Amino acid sequence: MSDVIVIGGGLAGLASSVALAQAGVTVTLLESRPRLGGRASSFEDAATGELIDNCQHVAMGCCTNFRHFCRATGIEASFRSERELFFVAPPTLELSVRPRICRFSAMPLPAPLHLAAAFLRLSYLSWQEKLALARGLKALARERSDATRGKNFADWLAEQRQPTNVIERFWWVVLVSALSESLDRVSVAAAQKVFVDGFLANRHGWEVWLPTVPLDELYSGQLTQWLTSHGVEVRLKSGVERLVLENDRVTAVELRNGERLSAQQFVLAVPQHRVRSFLPDEWHNKPPFDRLDQLETAPIASVHLWFDRPITQLPHAVLVGRLSQWMFNRSKVPSETDLTQSSEPGTRNYFQIIISNAREVAKRPQAEVIAEVVAELKAIWPEAALAELRHSRMIVEHTAVFSPLPGSEDLRPAQQSPIANLQLAGDWTQTGWPATMEGAVRSGFLAAENVARSFGRETRMLQPDLPVSWLNRWWMGRVRLSATAGE
Ligand SMILES: Cc1cc2nc3c(=O)[nH]c(=O)nc-3n(C[C@H](O)[C@H](O)[C@H](O)COP(=O)(O)OP(=O)(O)OC[C@H]3O[C@@H](n4cnc5c(N)ncnc54)[C@H](O)[C@@H]3O)c2cc1C
Repeated sequence: MSDVIVIGGGLAGLASSVALAQAGVTVTLLESRPRLGGRASSFEDAATGELIDNCQHVAMGCCTNFRHFCRATGIEASFRSERELFFVAPPTLELSVRPRICRFSAMPLPAPLHLAAAFLRLSYLSWQEKLALARGLKALARERSDATRGKNFADWLAEQRQPTNVIERFWWVVLVSALSESLDRVSVAAAQKVFVDGFLANRHGWEVWLPTVPLDELYSGQLTQWLTSHGVEVRLKSGVERLVLENDRVTAVELRNGERLSAQQFVLAVPQHRVRSFLPDEWHNKPPFDRLDQLETAPIASVHLWFDRPITQLPHAVLVGRLSQWMFNRSKVPSETDLTQSSEPGTRNYFQIIISNAREVAKRPQAEVIAEVVAELKAIWPEAALAELRHSRMIVEHTAVFSPLPGSEDLRPAQQSPIANLQLAGDWTQTGWPATMEGAVRSGFLAAENVARSFGRETRMLQPDLPVSWLNRWWMGRVRLSATAGE
C-alpha cells in the first residue's frame, strides 16, 4: 500500500507525484487514459502516422513552477526558449501589399523598459495609439484588485479610454491567446496577471518556452521513466469510479473494474466537472463542491496543416486581426535519411494554427475554417501562396480552460478540501493563475505540501515568482510592493 494515491495524470497530478516522491513519500498514480499529460497530450494522426499534439502548448519565463518541475525531472532539455516574437500586421485593403512582420524582443534594460522598443516597433499602431497603450499598461499595473472586483476587462478598457485599434490589435490579441476568452468575459485581475507577470515585472517573464518533442514523449515517455525510477507506481487505464469514505475520511478508491486501493492520503487531480461524481451524495451540496459546476469553460481550436513545401522560415508568428491567431512552425528539420526517402507528408512542412476563444469556430464546418486559415497564410507569405496543402485536420477542445470571468476566483477551491485527507489539484483550484500548465503544476505542488505536512515533513515546494526590479516596484506603485527585490 502506498502512502498517497494521486488520481489523474495531468500536469497537476504529475507535479504532486513528483514533489511527493522527492519528499520521500510513496505514491501510486492512477490515470484513466492509456497516456499521461491530460489536456497537454498527443495522439497519432492516422494519415501521417506521426504523433501530434492536441494543441501547441506554450510556457513563458514567468512560469517558475512549471520550469522547476521540468528541471527537477530532467525534461527541461526537451524545451527551447524563444527570445523573439513576430507580430504579423493586420490585413489592409491593399490586397497586393504583404503585411509587415514586426519583430518583438527585449533590450538590455531593466523591466519595464526592456520591451519599450518592441512596443514602438508595432508599426500597425500610430504614435497616439502607442502612447495610449503605454498609459493603459501603467494604469493596469497600478490597479488594485479591490477597486476592480466584479468588473470585466472590456469595461475597464472603455473607462481608460483605450482606442478601438489598441483594443483590437493589442489587448485582444494578447489576452485571447493567454486566457481564451473575449475581453467582456475576463476579469481585470486576470488581465493584470497576464500583463504584469508576462510583460512588465521581470525582463525574462515574456520569453516563450516551447517543447521540441511531442507532449506525449515528454509526459508519457521521459516523465514516466523519472517517476518509476523514483518509486512512483504509475497505473494507466486505471479509471477511478469513486472515493470510499468512512467517518468523513477517504479510506480507499474504487476503480472502474471494482478493484479497491487504500492509502493514507489522496490527491484528486481530475477536471473540476468530474469531482462531485467521485464523492458520496451527502458531499455534493457542501462547499466548495457545490460551486464547481459554476466554473464556466472556453474552447480552443487548433488547425493542423501539412504543405508540400515550407511556407515560412519563421518558427512562430502572432497573426493580428485575423481568424488565425498564432502560427507555430512544427516542421521537423529533415535528417540526411529523411532527405533521401520520400516521407511526405510526415512532420515536414507541418504547421499548427491556434484559435483561442473558439466558440464561433466550433459551430462552423471544419472545411470552411481550414480554407479560411489557409487563405490567410497565403496572403501573408509568398511561399504559402505557391504551396499545395497535402493534409489537414482541425481539433476543438470544447472545455479547454476555465473562463476567468469576474467572480470566478470565488468558485475556485483551496487544495485542502473539507475532507481532511483529501487534496484537490488542478488548474481550476486556487493558484492565483489562469488555466495553464503553470497553474496546474502550482496546484500539484500546493497539494503535495499539504500531504507532506500530514506526514510531518514541512517542505516548501511552491517556487517563488521571478523577482521584480526596484524600478518596477516604484513604477507599479502599491500593487507589487510586497514582491521580492532585485533582478
Ligand atoms: C487546446 C488546449 C490548449 C492549451 N494551451 C495551453 C498553453 O499554450 N499553455 C498553457 O500553459 N496551458 C495551455 N492549456 C491548458 C493546460 O493544458 C491545462 O491548464 C493543464 O494541462 C491542466 O492540467 P490538469 O492536471 O489540471 O488537468 P488535466 O490535464 O485535465 O488532467 C486531468 C487528468 O485526470 C484524468 N482523469 C479524469 N477522470 C479520471 C478518472 N476517473 N480516473 C483517473 N484519471 C482520471 C484525465 O484523463 C486527465 O489525465 C491548453 C489546454 C488546451 C485544452
